[in-house]
Amino acid sequence: MEADEDEQERARQAALNQALRRDVNERRLESSDGAEIDFVCECSDPSCEEVVSLTLGECEFIRRVPTRLVVRPGHADPETERVVMEEPGRFQVVEKFGLGGDVVEHLDPRGVNRRGESS
Ligand SMILES: [Zn+2]
Repeated sequence: MEADEDEQERARQAALNQALRRDVNERRLESSDGAEIDFVCECSDPSCEEVVSLTLGECEFIRRVPTRLVVRPGHADPETERVVMEEPGRFQVVEKFGLGGDVVEHLDPRGVNRRGESS
């Protein structure tokens, strides 16, 4: 069915977008010297411009698993993401599954097999 392919393509595009946002956040984290880092919301809505303030410890918790993303409360997509942790009023940590999960895992900025560059 073509509808299924459209659905898959949509999920893939959303995940690619989210991986890009994660890259932006990863750079913010690298250049941060404070205890709090402002992350852009990593939800699947490309027009979302909300900001999530995280502590370094929270960032590490999220990045420990390559399929985890951080979003504003209510921004999780239940079709492709499950909420694994919530700080009410601040953020939700989600794990993507299925195709989207594969995409964000493959593009993990901390993945050892990606880009061929080591730091
Ligand atoms: Zn959002």
